[in-house]
Amino acid sequence: MPSQTEPASQSVFERLHIALVINACGIYTDLGGSRLSPSVWAAMTEINQQFVRMTHLLESAGNLLAGPLGAESGLVTPGAAASITLMVSAAMTGTDGEAGQRLPDTIGLRNEIVLQRNHRYKYDRQIGLTGARLELAGNNAGTSAIQLASAITAHTAAIFVPAHLAGARGTLSLVEVVAVARRHGLPVIVDAAYMCWPLEAMPGYVAAGADLVCFSAKYFGGPNAGGFIVGRRAMMEAVVANNFTRYESGAYRTFGRTLKMDRQTVVGVVTAFEEWLAMDHTERWARYRRYVLMLAKMIEDLPGLRSTPMYFTMDERLVPEPVNSLVVDVGPGAGITAGGLGDALSVGDPAILCMVEEGRLIFCVDVLREEEVHQIGASLRTILAGRTPAVA
Ligand SMILES: *Cc1c(COP(=O)(O)O)cnc(C)c1O
Repeated sequence: MPSQTEPASQSVFERLHIALVINACGIYTDLGGSRLSPSVWAAMTEINQQFVRMTHLLESAGNLLAGPLGAESGLVTPGAAASITLMVSAAMTGTDGEAGQRLPDTIGLRNEIVLQRNHRYKYDRQIGLTGARLELAGNNAGTSAIQLASAITAHTAAIFVPAHLAGARGTLSLVEVVAVARRHGLPVIVDAAYMCWPLEAMPGYVAAGADLVCFSAKYFGGPNAGGFIVGRRAMMEAVVANNFTRYESGAYRTFGRTLKMDRQTVVGVVTAFEEWLAMDHTERWARYRRYVLMLAKMIEDLPGLRSTPMYFTMDERLVPEPVNSLVVDVGPGAGITAGGLGDALSVGDPAILCMVEEGRLIFCVDVLREEEVHQIGASLRTILAGRTPAVA
Protein backbone atom coordinates (compact mmCIF):
# COMPACT_ATOMS: atom_id res chain seq x y z
CA MET A 1 0.00 0.00 0.00
CA PRO A 2 1.42 3.43 -0.87
CA SER A 3 2.11 5.79 2.00
CA GLN A 4 -0.29 8.70 2.43
CA THR A 5 2.25 11.25 1.28
CA GLU A 6 3.16 9.36 -1.86
CA PRO A 7 1.27 10.73 -4.84
CA ALA A 8 -0.95 8.22 -6.61
CA SER A 9 0.94 7.05 -9.66
CA GLN A 10 -2.21 6.58 -11.72
CA SER A 11 -5.06 8.95 -12.38
CA VAL A 12 -8.41 8.17 -10.79
CA PHE A 13 -9.64 7.26 -14.26
CA GLU A 14 -7.00 4.53 -14.50
CA ARG A 15 -7.38 3.29 -10.94
CA LEU A 16 -11.15 3.09 -11.11
CA HIS A 17 -11.34 1.97 -14.73
CA ILE A 18 -13.77 4.69 -15.67
CA ALA A 19 -14.02 6.61 -18.91
CA LEU A 20 -13.60 10.36 -18.93
CA VAL A 21 -16.76 12.10 -20.09
CA ILE A 22 -17.14 15.38 -21.91
CA ASN A 23 -20.50 16.58 -20.68
CA ALA A 24 -22.35 18.40 -23.44
CA CYS A 25 -25.73 17.66 -21.83
CA GLY A 26 -25.75 20.32 -19.13
CA ILE A 27 -26.32 19.97 -15.41
CA TYR A 28 -27.50 16.43 -14.67
CA THR A 29 -27.23 14.43 -11.48
CA ASP A 30 -26.37 11.29 -13.45
CA LEU A 31 -23.34 13.09 -14.91
CA GLY A 32 -22.17 14.47 -11.58
CA GLY A 33 -23.97 17.80 -11.44
CA SER A 34 -21.76 20.82 -11.94
CA ARG A 35 -18.05 21.68 -11.84
CA LEU A 36 -16.82 23.29 -8.62
CA SER A 37 -14.83 26.49 -9.07
CA PRO A 38 -11.28 26.67 -7.65
CA SER A 39 -12.42 29.00 -4.87
CA VAL A 40 -15.32 26.73 -3.87
CA TRP A 41 -12.92 23.79 -3.83
CA ALA A 42 -10.40 25.83 -1.81
CA ALA A 43 -13.03 26.66 0.82
CA MET A 44 -13.93 22.97 1.06
CA THR A 45 -10.25 22.07 1.42
CA GLU A 46 -9.84 24.65 4.17
CA ILE A 47 -12.71 23.31 6.29
CA ASN A 48 -11.44 19.78 5.64
CA GLN A 49 -8.37 20.56 7.78
CA GLN A 50 -10.43 21.36 10.87
CA PHE A 51 -13.41 20.21 12.87
CA VAL A 52 -16.44 22.27 13.76
CA ARG A 53 -19.71 21.70 15.55
CA MET A 54 -22.04 20.82 12.69
CA THR A 55 -24.98 22.50 14.42
CA HIS A 56 -23.03 25.77 14.62
CA LEU A 57 -21.78 25.53 11.04
CA LEU A 58 -25.29 24.84 9.75
CA GLU A 59 -26.74 27.75 11.69
CA SER A 60 -24.15 30.25 10.45
CA ALA A 61 -24.32 28.95 6.90
CA GLY A 62 -28.11 29.14 7.02
CA ASN A 63 -28.00 32.79 8.05
CA LEU A 64 -25.71 33.61 5.12
CA LEU A 65 -28.19 31.99 2.73
CA ALA A 66 -31.30 33.53 4.27
CA GLY A 67 -30.11 37.14 4.28
CA PRO A 68 -29.89 37.80 0.54
CA LEU A 69 -33.19 36.00 -0.03
CA GLY A 70 -35.10 38.06 2.49
CA ALA A 71 -35.82 35.02 4.64
CA GLU A 72 -35.67 34.75 8.42
CA SER A 73 -33.65 31.57 8.49
CA GLY A 74 -31.98 28.94 6.29
CA LEU A 75 -30.41 25.50 6.28
CA VAL A 76 -27.96 23.78 3.93
CA THR A 77 -29.22 20.35 2.87
CA PRO A 78 -27.93 17.52 0.66
CA GLY A 79 -29.96 18.81 -2.31
CA ALA A 80 -33.42 19.90 -3.34
CA ALA A 81 -34.87 16.38 -3.25
CA ALA A 82 -33.68 16.03 0.35
CA SER A 83 -35.05 19.49 1.04
CA ILE A 84 -38.51 18.43 -0.12
CA THR A 85 -38.63 15.55 2.37
CA LEU A 86 -37.35 17.82 5.16
CA MET A 87 -39.83 20.58 4.37
CA VAL A 88 -42.76 18.16 4.21
CA SER A 89 -41.73 16.39 7.41
CA ALA A 90 -41.48 19.80 9.12
CA ALA A 91 -44.98 20.73 7.99
CA MET A 92 -46.32 17.53 9.56
CA THR A 93 -44.38 17.41 12.84
CA GLY A 94 -43.47 20.99 13.68
CA THR A 95 -40.83 20.87 16.41
CA ASP A 96 -42.39 17.80 18.07
CA GLY A 97 -39.41 15.45 18.35
CA GLU A 98 -41.61 12.50 19.30
CA ALA A 99 -43.65 12.94 16.13
CA GLY A 100 -40.48 13.37 14.07
CA GLN A 101 -38.97 10.11 15.19
CA ARG A 102 -42.16 8.19 14.37
CA LEU A 103 -42.05 9.21 10.68
CA PRO A 104 -42.94 7.79 8.21
CA ASP A 105 -45.71 6.72 10.60
CA THR A 106 -48.01 9.75 10.53
CA ILE A 107 -50.81 8.52 12.79
CA GLY A 108 -52.25 11.47 14.69
CA LEU A 109 -50.53 14.02 12.45
CA ARG A 110 -51.84 16.22 9.69
CA ASN A 111 -50.39 14.17 6.87
CA GLU A 112 -51.86 15.42 3.60
CA ILE A 113 -49.95 17.63 1.17
CA VAL A 114 -52.06 19.38 -1.42
CA LEU A 115 -50.71 19.76 -4.96
CA GLN A 116 -52.44 21.15 -8.04
CA ARG A 117 -53.14 18.38 -10.55
CA ASN A 118 -51.03 19.99 -13.28
CA HIS A 119 -48.18 20.53 -10.82
CA ARG A 120 -47.42 16.83 -10.63
CA TYR A 121 -43.73 16.28 -11.49
CA LYS A 122 -40.96 13.76 -11.03
CA TYR A 123 -39.80 14.98 -7.61
CA ASP A 124 -43.24 14.83 -5.95
CA ARG A 125 -42.12 11.31 -5.06
CA GLN A 126 -40.01 12.87 -2.27
CA ILE A 127 -43.20 14.09 -0.58
CA GLY A 128 -44.46 10.56 0.03
CA LEU A 129 -41.11 9.44 1.43
CA THR A 130 -42.04 11.13 4.70
CA GLY A 131 -45.26 9.14 5.05
CA ALA A 132 -47.30 12.11 3.81
CA ARG A 133 -50.10 11.60 1.30
CA LEU A 134 -50.39 13.61 -1.85
CA GLU A 135 -53.83 15.14 -2.35
CA LEU A 136 -54.40 16.40 -5.88
CA ALA A 137 -56.53 19.50 -6.40
CA GLY A 138 -58.38 20.21 -9.64
CA ASN A 139 -58.05 18.22 -12.85
CA ASN A 140 -56.27 18.14 -16.21
CA ALA A 141 -57.88 21.44 -17.17
CA GLY A 142 -56.37 23.16 -14.16
CA THR A 143 -57.18 24.11 -10.59
CA SER A 144 -59.38 26.97 -9.43
CA ALA A 145 -59.07 28.61 -6.03
CA ILE A 146 -62.32 26.88 -5.08
CA GLN A 147 -60.97 23.48 -6.17
CA LEU A 148 -57.77 24.10 -4.23
CA ALA A 149 -59.72 25.03 -1.11
CA SER A 150 -61.96 21.97 -1.44
CA ALA A 151 -58.91 19.66 -1.47
CA ILE A 152 -58.01 20.98 1.98
CA THR A 153 -59.20 18.87 4.91
CA ALA A 154 -58.59 18.71 8.65
CA HIS A 155 -55.58 16.53 7.81
CA THR A 156 -53.86 18.95 5.43
CA ALA A 157 -50.34 19.85 6.52
CA ALA A 158 -49.27 22.15 3.67
CA ILE A 159 -49.74 23.14 0.05
CA PHE A 160 -46.82 22.30 -2.22
CA VAL A 161 -45.76 24.36 -5.26
CA PRO A 162 -43.06 23.42 -7.82
CA ALA A 163 -41.94 26.92 -8.83
CA HIS A 164 -40.74 26.00 -12.31
CA LEU A 165 -44.25 24.82 -13.24
CA ALA A 166 -45.70 28.30 -12.82
CA GLY A 167 -48.03 28.85 -15.76
CA ALA A 168 -48.78 25.14 -16.25
CA ARG A 169 -52.24 24.73 -17.78
CA GLY A 170 -54.92 26.24 -15.59
CA THR A 171 -52.79 26.40 -12.47
CA LEU A 172 -52.97 29.03 -9.75
CA SER A 173 -49.95 31.26 -9.23
CA LEU A 174 -47.91 31.11 -6.05
CA VAL A 175 -49.56 34.33 -4.84
CA GLU A 176 -53.01 32.82 -5.43
CA VAL A 177 -52.02 29.63 -3.63
CA VAL A 178 -50.66 31.63 -0.70
CA ALA A 179 -53.97 33.51 -0.44
CA VAL A 180 -55.91 30.23 -0.15
CA ALA A 181 -53.36 28.79 2.28
CA ARG A 182 -53.53 31.86 4.55
CA ARG A 183 -57.31 31.59 4.79
CA HIS A 184 -56.88 28.02 6.03
CA GLY A 185 -53.89 28.71 8.28
CA LEU A 186 -51.64 26.44 6.19
CA PRO A 187 -48.00 26.80 5.16
CA VAL A 188 -46.89 26.88 1.51
CA ILE A 189 -43.83 24.87 0.53
CA VAL A 190 -41.96 25.66 -2.70
CA ASP A 191 -39.45 23.67 -4.76
CA ALA A 192 -37.48 26.36 -6.61
CA ALA A 193 -34.59 23.94 -7.35
CA TYR A 194 -33.34 25.57 -10.54
CA MET A 195 -34.89 29.02 -10.24
CA CYS A 196 -31.55 30.59 -9.32
CA TRP A 197 -31.36 32.68 -12.49
CA PRO A 198 -32.18 35.45 -13.09
CA LEU A 199 -30.87 36.35 -9.66
CA GLU A 200 -33.72 38.78 -8.99
CA ALA A 201 -36.17 35.86 -9.07
CA MET A 202 -34.54 34.12 -6.10
CA PRO A 203 -36.00 36.27 -3.29
CA GLY A 204 -39.39 36.32 -5.05
CA TYR A 205 -40.75 33.17 -3.45
CA VAL A 206 -40.31 34.33 0.12
CA ALA A 207 -41.61 37.75 -0.93
CA ALA A 208 -44.71 36.11 -2.43
CA GLY A 209 -45.46 34.54 0.94
CA ALA A 210 -43.94 31.05 0.70
CA ASP A 211 -43.16 29.65 4.14
CA LEU A 212 -40.35 27.33 3.00
CA VAL A 213 -38.43 27.41 -0.30
CA CYS A 214 -35.66 25.10 -1.47
CA PHE A 215 -32.95 25.45 -4.12
CA SER A 216 -30.49 22.89 -5.52
CA ALA A 217 -26.78 23.75 -5.42
CA LYS A 218 -26.13 21.77 -8.60
CA TYR A 219 -27.61 24.67 -10.56
CA PHE A 220 -25.44 27.43 -9.07
CA GLY A 221 -22.04 25.78 -9.25
CA GLY A 222 -22.24 24.05 -5.88
CA PRO A 223 -21.79 20.38 -4.94
CA ASN A 224 -24.11 17.87 -6.63
CA ALA A 225 -25.19 16.65 -3.18
CA GLY A 226 -25.96 20.16 -1.96
CA GLY A 227 -28.87 22.53 -1.72
CA PHE A 228 -30.67 24.61 0.86
CA ILE A 229 -33.97 25.66 2.37
CA VAL A 230 -34.88 29.17 3.47
CA GLY A 231 -38.06 30.35 5.11
CA ARG A 232 -39.94 31.59 8.12
CA ARG A 233 -38.24 31.06 11.45
CA ALA A 234 -40.88 28.85 13.05
CA MET A 235 -41.03 26.55 10.01
CA MET A 236 -37.24 26.44 9.75
CA GLU A 237 -37.06 25.40 13.41
CA ALA A 238 -39.30 22.47 12.51
CA VAL A 239 -36.98 21.62 9.57
CA VAL A 240 -33.93 21.72 11.86
CA ALA A 241 -35.74 19.55 14.43
CA ASN A 242 -36.03 16.83 11.78
CA ASN A 243 -32.51 17.30 10.39
CA PHE A 244 -29.68 14.77 10.75
CA THR A 245 -27.88 16.53 13.60
CA ARG A 246 -28.43 15.47 17.24
CA TYR A 247 -29.48 11.97 16.16
CA GLU A 248 -26.64 10.51 18.19
CA SER A 249 -26.39 13.18 20.89
CA GLY A 250 -29.99 14.39 21.28
CA ALA A 251 -33.24 13.06 22.65
CA TYR A 252 -34.76 11.84 19.38
CA ARG A 253 -33.91 9.57 16.47
CA THR A 254 -34.45 12.31 13.95
CA PHE A 255 -36.18 11.59 10.66
CA GLY A 256 -33.51 13.34 8.59
CA ARG A 257 -30.60 11.16 9.71
CA THR A 258 -30.21 9.61 6.26
CA LEU A 259 -29.79 13.11 4.82
CA LYS A 260 -26.53 13.81 6.61
CA MET A 261 -23.89 16.15 5.25
CA ASP A 262 -20.14 16.69 5.24
CA ARG A 263 -18.92 19.99 6.60
CA GLN A 264 -17.00 20.34 3.32
CA THR A 265 -20.27 20.22 1.37
CA VAL A 266 -21.95 22.73 3.66
CA VAL A 267 -19.09 25.16 3.08
CA GLY A 268 -19.12 24.37 -0.64
CA VAL A 269 -22.81 25.22 -0.94
CA VAL A 270 -22.48 28.55 0.85
CA THR A 271 -19.33 29.55 -1.02
CA ALA A 272 -20.86 28.65 -4.39
CA PHE A 273 -24.01 30.59 -3.52
CA GLU A 274 -22.04 33.71 -2.59
CA GLU A 275 -20.02 33.37 -5.79
CA TRP A 276 -23.21 32.98 -7.79
CA LEU A 277 -24.64 36.20 -6.33
CA ALA A 278 -21.42 38.09 -7.11
CA MET A 279 -20.88 36.54 -10.55
CA ASP A 280 -20.94 38.53 -13.80
CA HIS A 281 -23.82 36.64 -15.40
CA THR A 282 -23.63 38.70 -18.57
CA GLU A 283 -20.11 37.37 -19.01
CA ARG A 284 -21.32 33.83 -18.26
CA TRP A 285 -23.93 33.97 -21.04
CA ALA A 286 -21.46 35.64 -23.39
CA ARG A 287 -19.08 32.72 -22.78
CA TYR A 288 -21.81 30.20 -23.62
CA ARG A 289 -22.54 32.04 -26.87
CA ARG A 290 -18.86 32.15 -27.75
CA TYR A 291 -18.49 28.38 -27.20
CA VAL A 292 -21.60 27.64 -29.24
CA LEU A 293 -20.43 29.76 -32.16
CA MET A 294 -16.96 28.21 -31.91
CA LEU A 295 -18.43 24.73 -32.26
CA ALA A 296 -20.70 25.82 -35.11
CA LYS A 297 -17.67 27.24 -36.94
CA MET A 298 -15.70 24.02 -36.48
CA ILE A 299 -18.35 21.90 -38.16
CA GLU A 300 -19.84 24.34 -40.66
CA ASP A 301 -18.27 22.66 -43.71
CA LEU A 302 -19.38 19.13 -42.78
CA PRO A 303 -21.96 17.80 -45.25
CA GLY A 304 -25.47 16.99 -44.05
CA LEU A 305 -25.31 18.99 -40.83
CA ARG A 306 -27.23 22.16 -40.07
CA SER A 307 -26.37 24.07 -36.90
CA THR A 308 -28.64 26.44 -34.98
CA PRO A 309 -27.64 28.25 -31.77
CA MET A 310 -30.48 27.92 -29.24
CA TYR A 311 -31.28 27.98 -25.53
CA PHE A 312 -31.76 24.48 -24.12
CA THR A 313 -33.81 25.27 -21.02
CA MET A 314 -33.65 23.61 -17.63
CA ASP A 315 -36.90 21.83 -18.44
CA GLU A 316 -35.41 20.58 -21.71
CA ARG A 317 -37.17 22.84 -24.19
CA LEU A 318 -35.47 24.65 -27.07
CA VAL A 319 -36.09 28.39 -27.34
CA PRO A 320 -34.06 31.05 -29.20
CA GLU A 321 -32.41 33.03 -26.36
CA PRO A 322 -30.16 33.26 -24.41
CA VAL A 323 -27.91 30.88 -26.32
CA ASN A 324 -26.30 27.98 -24.44
CA SER A 325 -26.53 25.16 -26.99
CA LEU A 326 -25.87 24.18 -30.55
CA VAL A 327 -28.68 22.20 -32.15
CA VAL A 328 -27.23 20.07 -34.96
CA ASP A 329 -29.77 18.68 -37.42
CA VAL A 330 -28.39 15.56 -39.07
CA GLY A 331 -29.60 15.22 -42.66
CA PRO A 332 -29.22 12.37 -45.16
CA GLY A 333 -26.06 14.00 -46.54
CA ALA A 334 -24.22 13.19 -43.31
CA GLY A 335 -24.15 9.48 -44.13
CA ILE A 336 -25.17 8.65 -40.56
CA THR A 337 -28.29 9.14 -38.44
CA ALA A 338 -28.43 11.43 -35.44
CA GLY A 339 -28.67 8.36 -33.24
CA GLY A 340 -25.67 6.78 -34.94
CA LEU A 341 -23.66 9.95 -34.52
CA GLY A 342 -24.64 10.22 -30.86
CA ASP A 343 -23.57 6.60 -30.32
CA ALA A 344 -20.23 7.14 -32.07
CA LEU A 345 -19.51 10.16 -29.86
CA SER A 346 -20.49 8.31 -26.71
CA VAL A 347 -18.18 5.33 -27.25
CA GLY A 348 -15.10 7.48 -27.78
CA ASP A 349 -12.40 8.12 -25.20
CA PRO A 350 -13.16 10.59 -23.79
CA ALA A 351 -16.85 9.81 -24.20
CA ILE A 352 -18.77 12.79 -25.54
CA LEU A 353 -22.33 12.86 -24.21
CA CYS A 354 -24.96 15.14 -25.68
CA MET A 355 -28.73 15.13 -25.97
CA VAL A 356 -29.83 12.87 -28.81
CA GLU A 357 -33.25 13.47 -30.31
CA GLU A 358 -34.97 12.30 -33.47
CA GLY A 359 -32.92 13.75 -36.34
CA ARG A 360 -30.75 16.00 -34.23
CA LEU A 361 -28.14 16.36 -31.52
CA ILE A 362 -28.09 19.10 -28.90
CA PHE A 363 -24.74 20.21 -27.51
CA CYS A 364 -25.23 22.23 -24.34
CA VAL A 365 -22.12 24.15 -23.28
CA ASP A 366 -23.18 25.10 -19.72
CA VAL A 367 -20.48 23.07 -17.98
CA LEU A 368 -17.91 22.77 -20.79
CA ARG A 369 -14.39 24.13 -20.90
CA GLU A 370 -13.08 25.72 -24.08
CA GLU A 371 -10.76 22.83 -24.89
CA GLU A 372 -13.66 20.41 -24.54
CA VAL A 373 -15.62 22.38 -27.13
CA HIS A 374 -12.66 21.91 -29.47
CA GLN A 375 -12.59 18.17 -28.72
CA ILE A 376 -16.26 17.88 -29.61
CA GLY A 377 -15.71 19.66 -32.91
CA ALA A 378 -12.68 17.51 -33.68
CA SER A 379 -14.54 14.28 -32.86
CA LEU A 380 -17.47 15.25 -35.05
CA ARG A 381 -15.03 15.91 -37.91
CA THR A 382 -13.26 12.59 -37.41
CA ILE A 383 -16.45 10.53 -37.22
CA LEU A 384 -18.06 12.19 -40.20
CA ALA A 385 -14.88 12.10 -42.29
CA GLY A 386 -15.05 8.33 -42.00
CA ARG A 387 -18.68 8.25 -43.10
CA THR A 388 -19.26 10.68 -45.89
CA PRO A 389 -18.04 9.98 -49.40
CA ALA A 390 -15.09 12.20 -50.19
CA VAL A 391 -16.09 15.06 -52.43
CA ALA A 392 -13.51 16.07 -54.98
C1 LIG B 1 -32.65 18.65 -9.81
C2 LIG B 1 -34.02 19.01 -9.26
C3 LIG B 1 -34.45 18.59 -7.99
C4 LIG B 1 -33.57 17.73 -7.12
O1 LIG B 1 -32.48 18.48 -6.70
P1 LIG B 1 -31.22 17.74 -6.07
O2 LIG B 1 -30.44 18.87 -5.49
O3 LIG B 1 -30.51 17.06 -7.18
O4 LIG B 1 -31.73 16.80 -5.06
C5 LIG B 1 -35.69 18.94 -7.53
N1 LIG B 1 -36.51 19.68 -8.28
C6 LIG B 1 -36.17 20.11 -9.51
C7 LIG B 1 -37.13 20.94 -10.28
C8 LIG B 1 -34.91 19.79 -10.04
O5 LIG B 1 -34.57 20.19 -11.27
